[in-house]
Amino acid sequence: MTREVLYGPDDSDRDDRDRYDRDENGRPIDRRRTTSEEDILLRPKRLDEMVGQREVYERILIAIEAAKKRGEPLGHILFDGPPGLGKTTFATCIPKELGTSLQIANGATLKAPKDIVPYLTNAEEGSVLFIDEIHRMQKTVEEFIYPAMEDFRIDLTLGEGTNARTMNMPLKQFTLIGATTRTGLLSAPLRDRFQMREHLDFYTPEELSAIVLKNAEKLQMPIDDVAAMEIAFRSRGTPRLANNRLRWVRDFADARADGKITPKVALRAMDMQGIDSLGLDPFDRKFLETICRVFGGGPVGVEAVAHTMNIAPDTLVDEVEPFLLRSELLIRTPRGRKITEKGIEHLGLNPNDFDIPQTLF
Ligand code: ADP
Repeated sequence: MTREVLYGPDDSDRDDRDRYDRDENGRPIDRRRTTSEEDILLRPKRLDEMVGQREVYERILIAIEAAKKRGEPLGHILFDGPPGLGKTTFATCIPKELGTSLQIANGATLKAPKDIVPYLTNAEEGSVLFIDEIHRMQKTVEEFIYPAMEDFRIDLTLGEGTNARTMNMPLKQFTLIGATTRTGLLSAPLRDRFQMREHLDFYTPEELSAIVLKNAEKLQMPIDDVAAMEIAFRSRGTPRLANNRLRWVRDFADARADGKITPKVALRAMDMQGIDSLGLDPFDRKFLETICRVFGGGPVGVEAVAHTMNIAPDTLVDEVEPFLLRSELLIRTPRGRKITEKGIEHLGLNPNDFDIPQTLF
């Protein structure tokens, strides 16, 4: 069993995640092993440093204030939304606001109840347990944590077969924060045990530009407002991508310009990475192109496209599709994914070559 991170409120800079970058074949790069100090530097440390998501932010603040006033632990919170939008950032800022400790687990590593027991028994009064990718937790673990969430107790089975005994173990009152890219995959009983369910949506270019300006300052990089906006427009509504683009533009400016990020330098740098005017990278376009070239524009099941591209369907569904759907370059139909006229035009293909619905439904 792997325990990822355990830290208290003062150990504020530990952080091991900045995932969902992709290599040239579109496979996720597990950046947990390569996280640089910069990732840590760029991640907001307190809720009030977070940009955007104002409604979610306000609700969380109210819940924290109320919990503090009543001297009770904060209710369990579920965050959902595409990767890189701030689920982990919220989860790491909330305990700091509460002045409590945080444990981080990942649903993918919670394969049996015994995997989660140490987290539950180590949880201090009022502390936060964050389970990222909670939809990947095994069903047995899910059922095991119901009483932990509801009554702060677990039922441990000791011994085997006819000698097996169940022992009821009380826990300290803790707050579970779950994060998922797919609420649809969570069972209703688990979803219902979260007092708050917050959906994170894509950021506006203005919000992303504010993040870019803030972070350029942290990186001590001179940047002008227009250049920040160019980066924001090409970041697919996602702070993580805005940060990645900024860092690449910074490298480019250092190596090929005089270190200053002007709009021209920013555009040249992003061009070099194949990032287009909508912020799509070569892999996003490959996905759309495969639907066009191999499947006549669709409709096609996502598994078929994934197989053709030799990539896990989950990567397409979690990381690539949400922004394409949101930008109306792609639609979901009962029979599968279909590229839109706008999508075809964006690829520079001829819409007449494909049988595309004229209106979206
Ligand atoms: P998720 O858990 O949803 O995949 P993260 O919380 O890890 O996303 O966010 C990725 C990065 O984006 C963070 O490390 C942080 O630098 C940046 N980020 C996310 N949300 C915000 C925000 N609201 N304001 C500023 N930066 C943010």
